[in-house]
Amino acid sequence: MADDCDLAVIGGGSGGLALAQRAAAHGARVVLYEPGRLGGTCVHLGCVPKKAMWLAAQAAEQLGLAADLGFRLDAGGLDWPAFLARRQAYVERAEAGYARRLAGLGVTVVAERAHLLPQRRVASASGVRSARHVAIATGGRPRRLAVPGFELGRVSDDVFALTQPPRRVVVVGGGYVAVEMASLLAALGGEVELLVRGRRLLDGFDEGIGEALATAMRGRGIVVSTGVEVTAVERAADGTRTVSCAGGARRTGVDWLLWAIGRVPNSEDIGLADIGLSTTASGHIAVDAQQRTTVDGVYALGDVGTQPALTPVAVAAGRRLADRLFGGQPEACFDPAQVPTVVFALPPVASCGLSEAQARDRHGDGAVSVHATRFQPMREALAGRDDPVWIKLVCVGQAQRVVGLHLVGPGVEEILQGFAVAMRMGATRADFQATVAIHPGSAEEVVLL
Ligand code: NDP
Repeated sequence: MADDCDLAVIGGGSGGLALAQRAAAHGARVVLYEPGRLGGTCVHLGCVPKKAMWLAAQAAEQLGLAADLGFRLDAGGLDWPAFLARRQAYVERAEAGYARRLAGLGVTVVAERAHLLPQRRVASASGVRSARHVAIATGGRPRRLAVPGFELGRVSDDVFALTQPPRRVVVVGGGYVAVEMASLLAALGGEVELLVRGRRLLDGFDEGIGEALATAMRGRGIVVSTGVEVTAVERAADGTRTVSCAGGARRTGVDWLLWAIGRVPNSEDIGLADIGLSTTASGHIAVDAQQRTTVDGVYALGDVGTQPALTPVAVAAGRRLADRLFGGQPEACFDPAQVPTVVFALPPVASCGLSEAQARDRHGDGAVSVHATRFQPMREALAGRDDPVWIKLVCVGQAQRVVGLHLVGPGVEEILQGFAVAMRMGATRADFQATVAIHPGSAEEVVLL
């Protein structure tokens, strides 16, 4: 019997949308199930509204810099309702753009929760559809902990419901979300402390990044406390929170507590067991380089799968899968090597490729050379600020092929992308050095190293 469609996509976030659009552009008949809002975490509870807040936070910092440069300012602070209206309008434009593009491509959008059935069938409130291929792109959500009083804190989704900046803030965690939210809440007026259970911030990155970022965040007035484990939260008589930590230390008078302790995949309640698909211990769906799961014809991509939980990774994986299934490109697959990433902290962090430790593990100490520098950018130097940019280049072999580039400091979020292209093409340190520098600027320091 003929299938009802060529591709059923479950989840309308970054990965699912990219897959559905590319597949439809190749001529496939696509059904996309999304019971919530098109755009998923990235558009509604992540990248997009977060970057909007980061830009506002950065503007707040730049007002301070402008004053230090000699401008006479009476800025009067951020008008939150006006800013939130702009942020919301931007998000709604993005969402409407997706709906328009899907309609233009002839994708059937079913605004219902989907449930997987055997033989590549998908059930939802309006009925059952069969598909030649099924893709699971249901994303993830913030992790919750079994700590007494956990519910007295908030998660990253709640940051976007704030209508005014909280005053005394404690953020638990040391990963992407923790340092991003701590940075922007501090720049927008909060008194912020980060409680990190490990030894340093951004533990999965090059060791120097965590140290450089902690120094820079402390320079912005954020208290960064490492080796701290939260054991309980209570509500005090005045409505503030008291946070208890292992060893007996406490934080009192906390107005806003944010749990930023990782994310978990949305892999329950979609029928995985019914189709014989098991998950990893963390609940993720294991995929190979071509997004295949262990069930024939069923694929997974984005945060529900085992690839890095980054929007551009989900988008790339979705497009490559569509190219392979419907675009006549049998070898197409997402290439996980040298994925560049930016952490929108203040200052931002930009990183691509291997950390120094990973390079030493993979290639041996003798093959690895590391070149690092720390310098004051011109703007910060003019303003009399100590806010350096930190750079580390990790190279391997006689030819010094660049396998890692790591940056922390003002402006680095826009520096990395072009260098990532060069690294992907196999650039060596000599190639970097042979490139004429743009002077004066921060990016030139990378080619002068
Ligand atoms: P991360 O995995 O980046 O960080 C989780 C943090 O929580 C770590 O510091 C971890 O510490 C800590 N943690 C975990 N469990 C506990 C616990 N029980 N008690 C205290 N601390 C704990 O997760 P995030 O939620 O910050 O981000 C999820 C993913 O989303 C990121 O990895 C990234 O892929 C993506 N993301 C990307 C962004 C971007 O591109 N700019 C922005 C935000 C998210 P430990 O190291 O000790 O385990």
